[in-house]
Amino acid sequence: METADTICAISTPPGEGGIGIIRISGPKAHSLLLKIFEASRKRESYIPRTLYLGNIINRDNKERIDEVFVVLLKAPKTYTREDMAEIYSHGGFATQQNILSLLVRHGARLAEPGEFTKRAFLNGRIDLLQAESVLDIIQSETDEELRCAIDHLEGKLSKKINEIKDSVKEVLVEIEALIDFPEEEIDVDQEGCIATLQATHKKIERLMRSYFTGKAIRHGLEALIIGRTNVGKSSLLNALLLKEKAIVTPLPGTTRDLIEDTIHIKGIKIKIVDTAGLRMPKDVVEQEGIDRVMRRIPGADLIIWVLDGSEPYTTEDEVIFTTITGGYIVVAINKVDLPQKLDRTKIASRGLEWLKISALKDTGLEELKEVIYKKLMGRSGKHAGVLVTNIRHRESLQKTYGAIGRTIDCHQQGEPMEFMAFELREALSHLGEITGETCPEEILHDIFSRFCIGK
Ligand code: GDP
Repeated sequence: METADTICAISTPPGEGGIGIIRISGPKAHSLLLKIFEASRKRESYIPRTLYLGNIINRDNKERIDEVFVVLLKAPKTYTREDMAEIYSHGGFATQQNILSLLVRHGARLAEPGEFTKRAFLNGRIDLLQAESVLDIIQSETDEELRCAIDHLEGKLSKKINEIKDSVKEVLVEIEALIDFPEEEIDVDQEGCIATLQATHKKIERLMRSYFTGKAIRHGLEALIIGRTNVGKSSLLNALLLKEKAIVTPLPGTTRDLIEDTIHIKGIKIKIVDTAGLRMPKDVVEQEGIDRVMRRIPGADLIIWVLDGSEPYTTEDEVIFTTITGGYIVVAINKVDLPQKLDRTKIASRGLEWLKISALKDTGLEELKEVIYKKLMGRSGKHAGVLVTNIRHRESLQKTYGAIGRTIDCHQQGEPMEFMAFELREALSHLGEITGETCPEEILHDIFSRFCIGK
Protein backbone atom coordinates (compact mmCIF):
# COMPACT_ATOMS: atom_id res chain seq x y z
CA MET A 1 0.00 0.00 0.00
CA GLU A 2 1.47 3.34 -1.11
CA THR A 3 1.10 6.34 1.15
CA ALA A 4 2.48 8.75 -1.44
CA ASP A 5 -0.67 8.63 -3.55
CA THR A 6 -3.93 10.36 -2.85
CA ILE A 7 -6.91 8.27 -1.88
CA CYS A 8 -10.64 8.94 -1.79
CA ALA A 9 -13.73 7.14 -0.49
CA ILE A 10 -17.30 7.64 0.60
CA SER A 11 -17.19 7.64 4.42
CA THR A 12 -20.90 7.59 5.20
CA PRO A 13 -22.99 4.39 4.98
CA PRO A 14 -24.25 3.55 1.47
CA GLY A 15 -27.83 4.37 0.55
CA GLU A 16 -29.99 7.45 0.76
CA GLY A 17 -29.10 10.07 3.35
CA GLY A 18 -29.49 13.77 4.05
CA ILE A 19 -25.80 14.24 3.40
CA GLY A 20 -22.97 11.96 2.36
CA ILE A 21 -19.31 12.58 3.10
CA ILE A 22 -16.43 11.93 0.72
CA ARG A 23 -12.95 11.98 2.15
CA ILE A 24 -9.69 12.58 0.33
CA SER A 25 -6.24 12.07 1.82
CA GLY A 26 -2.74 12.43 0.43
CA PRO A 27 -0.35 15.00 -1.02
CA LYS A 28 -2.76 16.05 -3.78
CA ALA A 29 -5.89 16.17 -1.64
CA HIS A 30 -6.25 19.94 -1.87
CA SER A 31 -5.30 20.41 -5.52
CA LEU A 32 -7.59 17.56 -6.58
CA LEU A 33 -10.52 19.00 -4.71
CA LEU A 34 -10.00 22.42 -6.23
CA LYS A 35 -10.00 20.88 -9.72
CA ILE A 36 -13.60 19.79 -9.27
CA PHE A 37 -14.93 22.43 -6.86
CA GLU A 38 -16.18 25.89 -7.70
CA ALA A 39 -16.92 28.13 -4.71
CA SER A 40 -20.13 30.15 -4.77
CA ARG A 41 -18.11 33.30 -4.22
CA LYS A 42 -14.90 33.41 -6.23
CA ARG A 43 -11.75 33.44 -4.10
CA GLU A 44 -7.98 33.21 -4.53
CA SER A 45 -7.21 30.95 -1.57
CA TYR A 46 -8.87 28.74 1.01
CA ILE A 47 -8.33 28.72 4.75
CA PRO A 48 -8.02 25.22 6.29
CA ARG A 49 -10.80 24.01 8.61
CA THR A 50 -13.32 26.41 7.10
CA LEU A 51 -16.47 25.32 5.32
CA TYR A 52 -17.01 26.62 1.81
CA LEU A 53 -20.26 26.41 -0.11
CA GLY A 54 -20.11 25.76 -3.85
CA ASN A 55 -20.59 23.17 -6.59
CA ILE A 56 -18.84 20.09 -7.82
CA ILE A 57 -18.29 20.69 -11.52
CA ASN A 58 -17.15 18.42 -14.32
CA ARG A 59 -14.98 21.01 -16.09
CA ASP A 60 -14.77 18.87 -19.28
CA ASN A 61 -18.42 19.38 -20.11
CA LYS A 62 -19.25 22.14 -17.54
CA GLU A 63 -21.80 19.82 -15.95
CA ARG A 64 -22.77 20.71 -12.37
CA ILE A 65 -22.91 17.51 -10.29
CA ASP A 66 -24.06 18.70 -6.86
CA GLU A 67 -24.17 21.65 -4.52
CA VAL A 68 -21.82 20.87 -1.64
CA PHE A 69 -19.85 22.12 1.34
CA VAL A 70 -16.14 21.39 1.33
CA VAL A 71 -13.38 21.69 3.91
CA LEU A 72 -9.60 21.51 3.52
CA LEU A 73 -7.51 20.07 6.35
CA LYS A 74 -3.79 20.69 6.53
CA ALA A 75 -1.20 18.06 7.51
CA PRO A 76 -0.09 17.06 10.08
CA LYS A 77 -3.14 17.90 12.23
CA THR A 78 -5.50 15.55 10.40
CA TYR A 79 -6.80 12.01 10.93
CA THR A 80 -4.15 10.54 8.59
CA ARG A 81 -1.49 13.21 9.27
CA GLU A 82 -1.63 13.94 5.53
CA ASP A 83 -3.38 16.78 3.72
CA MET A 84 -7.05 15.92 3.66
CA ALA A 85 -10.27 17.28 2.24
CA GLU A 86 -13.91 16.44 2.83
CA ILE A 87 -16.90 16.98 0.59
CA TYR A 88 -20.40 17.12 2.10
CA SER A 89 -22.73 16.35 -0.76
CA HIS A 90 -26.30 15.12 -0.93
CA GLY A 91 -26.45 11.54 0.27
CA GLY A 92 -27.66 9.84 -2.92
CA PHE A 93 -25.80 6.93 -4.45
CA ALA A 94 -25.50 8.45 -7.98
CA THR A 95 -24.31 11.85 -6.72
CA GLN A 96 -21.56 10.41 -4.58
CA GLN A 97 -20.43 7.93 -7.23
CA ASN A 98 -20.19 10.77 -9.78
CA ILE A 99 -18.05 12.86 -7.45
CA LEU A 100 -15.84 9.87 -6.71
CA SER A 101 -15.42 9.13 -10.44
CA LEU A 102 -14.38 12.71 -11.08
CA LEU A 103 -11.75 12.50 -8.34
CA VAL A 104 -10.40 9.25 -9.77
CA ARG A 105 -10.31 10.74 -13.24
CA HIS A 106 -8.13 13.53 -11.88
CA GLY A 107 -5.65 11.11 -10.34
CA ALA A 108 -7.00 9.97 -6.95
CA ARG A 109 -7.17 6.27 -6.11
CA LEU A 110 -10.13 4.53 -4.44
CA ALA A 111 -9.20 3.78 -0.83
CA GLU A 112 -8.95 0.21 0.42
CA PRO A 113 -10.91 -0.82 3.55
CA GLY A 114 -9.50 0.93 6.62
CA GLU A 115 -6.86 2.74 4.58
CA PHE A 116 -7.42 6.13 6.24
CA THR A 117 -6.87 4.55 9.67
CA LYS A 118 -3.93 2.55 8.31
CA ARG A 119 -2.31 5.78 7.17
CA ALA A 120 -2.90 7.29 10.61
CA PHE A 121 -1.02 4.28 11.99
CA LEU A 122 1.79 4.28 9.38
CA ASN A 123 2.29 8.02 9.84
CA GLY A 124 2.65 7.53 13.61
CA ARG A 125 -0.50 9.35 14.76
CA ILE A 126 -1.85 6.29 16.54
CA ASP A 127 -0.40 2.88 17.33
CA LEU A 128 -1.85 -0.39 16.09
CA LEU A 129 -3.74 -1.02 19.30
CA GLN A 130 -5.45 2.36 18.97
CA ALA A 131 -6.20 1.72 15.29
CA GLU A 132 -7.94 -1.52 16.26
CA SER A 133 -9.97 0.33 18.88
CA VAL A 134 -11.40 2.56 16.13
CA LEU A 135 -12.98 -0.58 14.71
CA ASP A 136 -14.16 -1.59 18.18
CA ILE A 137 -15.86 1.80 18.65
CA ILE A 138 -17.70 1.43 15.35
CA GLN A 139 -18.81 -2.09 16.27
CA SER A 140 -19.70 -1.50 19.95
CA GLU A 141 -23.15 -2.72 20.90
CA THR A 142 -23.21 -1.90 24.61
CA ASP A 143 -22.04 1.05 26.73
CA GLU A 144 -19.46 -1.14 28.48
CA GLU A 145 -18.00 -2.24 25.16
CA LEU A 146 -17.82 1.35 24.02
CA ARG A 147 -16.15 2.46 27.25
CA CYS A 148 -13.40 -0.16 26.79
CA ALA A 149 -12.86 0.81 23.16
CA ILE A 150 -12.62 4.51 24.06
CA ASP A 151 -10.11 3.68 26.81
CA HIS A 152 -8.00 1.92 24.21
CA LEU A 153 -8.27 4.73 21.66
CA GLU A 154 -7.21 7.21 24.34
CA GLY A 155 -4.10 5.10 24.73
CA LYS A 156 -4.63 3.74 28.25
CA LEU A 157 -3.68 0.19 27.28
CA SER A 158 -0.87 1.41 25.00
CA LYS A 159 0.54 3.30 27.99
CA LYS A 160 0.62 0.10 30.07
CA ILE A 161 2.25 -1.84 27.23
CA ASN A 162 4.84 0.91 26.75
CA GLU A 163 5.65 0.94 30.47
CA ILE A 164 6.28 -2.80 30.29
CA LYS A 165 8.38 -2.30 27.16
CA ASP A 166 10.47 0.39 28.88
CA SER A 167 11.18 -1.86 31.88
CA VAL A 168 12.25 -4.73 29.62
CA LYS A 169 14.46 -2.40 27.53
CA GLU A 170 16.08 -1.02 30.66
CA VAL A 171 17.05 -4.51 31.83
CA LEU A 172 18.21 -5.54 28.36
CA VAL A 173 20.57 -2.55 28.18
CA GLU A 174 22.14 -3.56 31.50
CA ILE A 175 22.52 -7.18 30.45
CA GLU A 176 24.03 -6.26 27.10
CA ALA A 177 26.52 -4.06 28.94
CA LEU A 178 27.48 -7.07 31.06
CA ILE A 179 27.93 -9.17 27.92
CA ASP A 180 30.10 -6.52 26.27
CA PHE A 181 32.27 -5.61 29.26
CA PRO A 182 33.71 -7.74 32.01
CA GLU A 183 31.83 -7.46 35.30
CA GLU A 184 34.60 -5.63 37.14
CA GLU A 185 34.57 -2.77 34.62
CA ILE A 186 30.95 -1.77 35.04
CA ASP A 187 28.51 -1.53 37.86
CA VAL A 188 25.30 -3.44 37.11
CA ASP A 189 22.70 -4.17 39.77
CA GLN A 190 21.81 -7.70 38.69
CA GLU A 191 19.43 -8.35 41.57
CA GLY A 192 17.68 -5.05 40.80
CA CYS A 193 17.25 -6.18 37.17
CA ILE A 194 15.67 -9.46 38.26
CA ALA A 195 13.35 -7.63 40.67
CA THR A 196 12.24 -5.37 37.78
CA LEU A 197 11.58 -8.43 35.63
CA GLN A 198 9.60 -10.12 38.40
CA ALA A 199 7.43 -7.02 38.89
CA THR A 200 6.91 -6.79 35.12
CA HIS A 201 5.99 -10.46 35.00
CA LYS A 202 3.24 -9.80 37.59
CA LYS A 203 1.99 -6.75 35.67
CA ILE A 204 1.61 -8.84 32.52
CA GLU A 205 -0.18 -11.54 34.46
CA ARG A 206 -2.74 -8.99 35.72
CA LEU A 207 -3.26 -7.70 32.20
CA MET A 208 -3.77 -11.24 30.87
CA ARG A 209 -6.26 -11.93 33.64
CA SER A 210 -8.30 -8.90 32.59
CA TYR A 211 -8.94 -10.62 29.26
CA PHE A 212 -11.68 -12.71 30.81
CA THR A 213 -13.66 -9.61 31.80
CA GLY A 214 -12.68 -7.97 28.51
CA LYS A 215 -13.98 -10.94 26.57
CA ALA A 216 -17.14 -10.97 28.69
CA ILE A 217 -17.85 -7.36 27.80
CA ARG A 218 -17.06 -7.74 24.12
CA HIS A 219 -18.40 -11.15 23.26
CA GLY A 220 -20.43 -12.26 26.28
CA LEU A 221 -19.95 -15.48 28.21
CA GLU A 222 -21.39 -18.93 27.92
CA ALA A 223 -23.05 -20.99 30.62
CA LEU A 224 -24.05 -24.59 29.88
CA ILE A 225 -26.98 -26.17 31.70
CA ILE A 226 -26.01 -29.80 32.28
CA GLY A 227 -27.77 -32.64 34.05
CA ARG A 228 -29.46 -35.94 33.50
CA THR A 229 -32.82 -36.03 31.73
CA ASN A 230 -35.93 -34.75 33.45
CA VAL A 231 -34.22 -32.85 36.26
CA GLY A 232 -35.69 -29.59 34.87
CA LYS A 233 -32.96 -28.15 32.61
CA SER A 234 -35.36 -26.86 29.94
CA SER A 235 -37.66 -25.49 32.62
CA LEU A 236 -34.70 -23.63 34.09
CA LEU A 237 -33.73 -22.16 30.73
CA ASN A 238 -37.30 -21.02 30.17
CA ALA A 239 -37.55 -19.57 33.64
CA LEU A 240 -34.29 -17.65 33.18
CA LEU A 241 -35.39 -16.37 29.80
CA LEU A 242 -39.00 -15.84 30.90
CA LYS A 243 -40.26 -17.46 27.73
CA GLU A 244 -41.11 -20.86 26.32
CA LYS A 245 -38.07 -21.58 24.19
CA ALA A 246 -37.14 -25.14 25.11
CA ILE A 247 -39.83 -27.78 24.95
CA VAL A 248 -40.75 -28.98 28.43
CA THR A 249 -42.42 -32.36 28.72
CA PRO A 250 -42.60 -35.02 31.43
CA LEU A 251 -40.97 -37.48 28.94
CA PRO A 252 -37.26 -37.97 29.54
CA GLY A 253 -34.96 -37.09 26.62
CA THR A 254 -37.03 -34.33 25.00
CA THR A 255 -34.21 -31.84 24.41
CA ARG A 256 -32.02 -33.53 21.85
CA ASP A 257 -30.24 -30.50 20.48
CA LEU A 258 -28.66 -27.46 22.05
CA ILE A 259 -31.11 -24.64 22.66
CA GLU A 260 -29.61 -21.31 23.58
CA ASP A 261 -30.48 -17.71 24.26
CA THR A 262 -28.90 -14.72 25.89
CA ILE A 263 -29.74 -13.05 29.16
CA HIS A 264 -28.15 -9.89 30.52
CA ILE A 265 -26.96 -9.91 34.10
CA LYS A 266 -25.66 -6.51 35.22
CA GLY A 267 -24.79 -5.50 31.66
CA ILE A 268 -22.94 -8.72 30.79
CA LYS A 269 -24.30 -10.84 27.96
CA ILE A 270 -24.56 -14.42 29.13
CA LYS A 271 -25.51 -17.07 26.65
CA ILE A 272 -27.39 -19.85 28.41
CA VAL A 273 -27.33 -23.17 26.61
CA ASP A 274 -29.79 -25.95 27.44
CA THR A 275 -28.33 -29.32 26.58
CA ALA A 276 -29.59 -32.80 25.90
CA GLY A 277 -29.90 -34.78 29.10
CA LEU A 278 -26.82 -36.88 29.66
CA ARG A 279 -27.74 -40.56 29.91
CA MET A 280 -27.13 -43.79 28.02
CA PRO A 281 -28.39 -42.84 24.54
CA LYS A 282 -31.45 -44.70 23.21
CA ASP A 283 -30.77 -43.91 19.52
CA VAL A 284 -28.28 -42.18 17.19
CA VAL A 285 -30.09 -38.84 17.40
CA GLU A 286 -29.76 -38.84 21.16
CA GLN A 287 -26.14 -39.95 20.84
CA GLU A 288 -25.43 -36.99 18.54
CA GLY A 289 -27.11 -34.65 21.06
CA ILE A 290 -24.90 -35.98 23.84
CA ASP A 291 -21.76 -35.74 21.67
CA ARG A 292 -22.55 -32.08 21.04
CA VAL A 293 -22.78 -31.42 24.76
CA MET A 294 -19.48 -33.16 25.38
CA ARG A 295 -17.77 -31.05 22.71
CA ARG A 296 -19.14 -27.89 24.26
CA ILE A 297 -18.10 -28.59 27.87
CA PRO A 298 -14.37 -27.68 27.61
CA GLY A 299 -15.08 -24.24 26.10
CA ALA A 300 -17.88 -23.27 28.50
CA ASP A 301 -17.20 -20.41 30.87
CA LEU A 302 -19.56 -21.89 33.46
CA ILE A 303 -21.48 -25.09 33.97
CA ILE A 304 -24.82 -25.02 35.74
CA TRP A 305 -25.25 -28.57 36.96
CA VAL A 306 -28.91 -29.26 37.64
CA LEU A 307 -29.89 -32.01 40.10
CA ASP A 308 -33.40 -33.15 41.00
CA GLY A 309 -33.88 -32.49 44.72
CA SER A 310 -36.93 -34.72 44.84
CA GLU A 311 -34.94 -37.84 43.88
CA PRO A 312 -31.94 -39.60 45.39
CA TYR A 313 -28.46 -39.02 43.93
CA THR A 314 -28.00 -41.53 41.10
CA THR A 315 -25.06 -43.18 39.37
CA GLU A 316 -25.98 -41.13 36.29
CA ASP A 317 -25.46 -37.97 38.35
CA GLU A 318 -22.09 -39.34 39.43
CA VAL A 319 -21.07 -40.03 35.79
CA ILE A 320 -22.04 -36.47 34.89
CA PHE A 321 -19.98 -35.11 37.75
CA THR A 322 -16.88 -36.92 36.49
CA THR A 323 -17.53 -35.48 33.01
CA ILE A 324 -17.70 -31.88 34.13
CA THR A 325 -15.24 -31.94 36.98
CA GLY A 326 -12.43 -29.44 36.52
CA GLY A 327 -14.77 -26.83 34.99
CA TYR A 328 -16.32 -23.84 36.72
CA ILE A 329 -19.45 -25.34 38.27
CA VAL A 330 -22.54 -24.05 40.06
CA VAL A 331 -24.98 -26.68 41.30
CA ALA A 332 -28.69 -25.90 41.10
CA ILE A 333 -30.78 -28.31 43.14
CA ASN A 334 -34.13 -28.09 41.41
CA LYS A 335 -37.69 -29.00 42.43
CA VAL A 336 -37.40 -27.75 46.02
CA ASP A 337 -41.18 -27.37 45.99
CA LEU A 338 -41.42 -31.21 46.22
CA PRO A 339 -40.43 -33.39 49.21
CA GLN A 340 -36.62 -33.62 49.18
CA LYS A 341 -34.75 -36.91 48.82
CA LEU A 342 -31.36 -35.76 47.53
CA ASP A 343 -28.37 -36.38 49.78
CA ARG A 344 -26.73 -32.93 49.66
CA THR A 345 -23.58 -34.11 51.43
CA LYS A 346 -22.56 -35.64 48.07
CA ILE A 347 -22.32 -32.11 46.69
CA ALA A 348 -20.97 -30.37 49.77
CA SER A 349 -18.18 -32.93 50.20
CA ARG A 350 -16.85 -32.01 46.75
CA GLY A 351 -16.53 -28.35 47.64
CA LEU A 352 -19.11 -27.33 45.04
CA GLU A 353 -21.22 -24.24 45.46
CA TRP A 354 -24.91 -25.13 45.42
CA LEU A 355 -28.28 -23.50 45.85
CA LYS A 356 -31.89 -24.60 45.94
CA ILE A 357 -34.27 -23.55 43.19
CA SER A 358 -37.60 -24.36 41.68
CA ALA A 359 -37.75 -23.68 37.97
CA LEU A 360 -41.47 -24.39 38.04
CA LYS A 361 -42.36 -22.11 40.97
CA ASP A 362 -39.75 -19.47 40.14
CA THR A 363 -37.94 -19.84 43.46
CA GLY A 364 -34.27 -18.97 43.96
CA LEU A 365 -33.72 -17.79 40.39
CA GLU A 366 -32.57 -14.28 41.29
CA GLU A 367 -30.06 -15.82 43.71
CA LEU A 368 -28.93 -18.19 40.95
CA LYS A 369 -28.36 -15.25 38.57
CA GLU A 370 -26.34 -13.50 41.26
CA VAL A 371 -24.18 -16.61 41.77
CA ILE A 372 -23.73 -17.03 37.99
CA TYR A 373 -22.54 -13.43 37.74
CA LYS A 374 -20.20 -13.62 40.73
CA LYS A 375 -18.75 -16.92 39.65
CA LEU A 376 -18.12 -15.70 36.09
CA MET A 377 -16.69 -12.33 37.00
CA GLY A 378 -14.72 -13.85 39.87
CA ARG A 379 -12.70 -15.73 37.27
CA SER A 380 -10.98 -12.47 36.33
CA GLY A 381 -9.70 -11.99 39.87
CA LYS A 382 -7.77 -8.80 40.53
CA HIS A 383 -6.81 -7.21 37.24
CA ALA A 384 -5.16 -4.15 35.86
CA GLY A 385 -8.12 -1.77 35.53
CA VAL A 386 -7.62 -1.34 31.78
CA LEU A 387 -9.00 -4.38 30.03
CA VAL A 388 -7.44 -6.51 27.33
CA THR A 389 -10.33 -7.30 24.98
CA ASN A 390 -8.54 -8.54 21.91
CA ILE A 391 -7.33 -12.13 21.49
CA ARG A 392 -4.36 -10.94 19.41
CA HIS A 393 -3.15 -8.76 22.28
CA ARG A 394 -3.79 -11.57 24.75
CA GLU A 395 -1.63 -13.97 22.70
CA SER A 396 1.26 -11.53 22.36
CA LEU A 397 1.10 -10.85 26.11
CA GLN A 398 1.16 -14.60 26.75
CA LYS A 399 4.34 -14.94 24.64
CA THR A 400 5.94 -11.95 26.38
CA TYR A 401 5.05 -13.52 29.73
CA GLY A 402 6.74 -16.76 28.68
CA ALA A 403 9.91 -15.00 27.49
CA ILE A 404 10.26 -12.96 30.70
CA GLY A 405 9.63 -16.08 32.79
CA ARG A 406 12.41 -17.88 30.93
CA THR A 407 14.76 -14.91 31.47
CA ILE A 408 14.19 -15.14 35.23
CA ASP A 409 14.79 -18.93 35.06
CA CYS A 410 18.05 -18.39 33.14
CA HIS A 411 19.28 -16.10 35.89
CA GLN A 412 18.29 -18.51 38.64
CA GLN A 413 20.04 -21.39 36.91
CA GLY A 414 23.18 -19.37 36.25
CA GLU A 415 22.87 -19.65 32.46
CA PRO A 416 24.97 -17.40 30.19
CA MET A 417 23.85 -13.77 29.91
CA GLU A 418 23.41 -14.21 26.15
CA PHE A 419 20.43 -16.47 26.80
CA MET A 420 18.80 -13.82 28.95
CA ALA A 421 19.40 -11.15 26.32
CA PHE A 422 17.88 -13.43 23.67
CA GLU A 423 14.69 -13.96 25.70
CA LEU A 424 14.35 -10.26 26.45
CA ARG A 425 14.63 -9.40 22.76
CA GLU A 426 11.89 -11.96 22.15
CA ALA A 427 9.74 -10.25 24.78
CA LEU A 428 10.27 -6.85 23.18
CA SER A 429 9.36 -8.20 19.78
CA HIS A 430 6.06 -9.63 21.11
CA LEU A 431 5.24 -6.36 22.86
CA GLY A 432 5.98 -4.56 19.60
CA GLU A 433 3.43 -6.76 17.83
CA ILE A 434 0.71 -5.31 20.07
CA THR A 435 1.47 -1.69 19.34
CA GLY A 436 2.47 -2.41 15.75
CA GLU A 437 6.20 -1.72 15.64
CA THR A 438 7.11 -5.32 14.92
CA CYS A 439 3.90 -6.46 13.32
CA PRO A 440 4.22 -8.50 10.10
CA GLU A 441 2.54 -7.03 7.01
CA GLU A 442 0.03 -9.88 6.72
CA ILE A 443 -1.28 -9.20 10.23
CA LEU A 444 -1.62 -5.49 9.42
CA HIS A 445 -3.48 -6.41 6.25
CA ASP A 446 -5.75 -8.73 8.18
CA ILE A 447 -6.54 -6.06 10.79
CA PHE A 448 -7.28 -3.24 8.37
CA SER A 449 -9.27 -5.37 5.94
CA ARG A 450 -11.89 -5.74 8.70
CA PHE A 451 -12.63 -2.03 8.51
CA CYS A 452 -15.20 -0.53 6.18
CA ILE A 453 -14.12 1.50 3.19
CA GLY A 454 -13.88 5.16 4.07
CA LYS A 455 -12.67 4.65 7.66
P1 GDP B 1 -35.10 -31.66 31.35
O1 GDP B 1 -35.25 -33.00 30.69
O2 GDP B 1 -34.00 -31.71 32.36
O3 GDP B 1 -34.94 -30.54 30.40
O4 GDP B 1 -36.43 -31.42 32.22
P2 GDP B 1 -37.71 -30.54 31.87
O5 GDP B 1 -37.43 -29.10 32.06
O6 GDP B 1 -38.25 -31.00 30.56
O7 GDP B 1 -38.65 -30.97 33.08
C1 GDP B 1 -39.01 -32.29 33.32
C2 GDP B 1 -40.25 -32.30 34.19
O8 GDP B 1 -39.96 -31.76 35.48
C3 GDP B 1 -41.39 -31.46 33.62
O9 GDP B 1 -42.60 -32.15 33.86
C4 GDP B 1 -41.33 -30.19 34.45
O10 GDP B 1 -42.58 -29.55 34.55
C5 GDP B 1 -40.87 -30.73 35.78
N1 GDP B 1 -40.19 -29.69 36.58
C6 GDP B 1 -39.17 -28.88 36.19
N2 GDP B 1 -38.80 -28.06 37.19
C7 GDP B 1 -39.59 -28.34 38.25
C8 GDP B 1 -39.69 -27.81 39.58
O11 GDP B 1 -38.98 -26.90 40.02
N3 GDP B 1 -40.64 -28.37 40.39
C9 GDP B 1 -41.45 -29.38 39.97
N4 GDP B 1 -42.34 -29.84 40.81
N5 GDP B 1 -41.38 -29.89 38.72
C10 GDP B 1 -40.49 -29.39 37.87
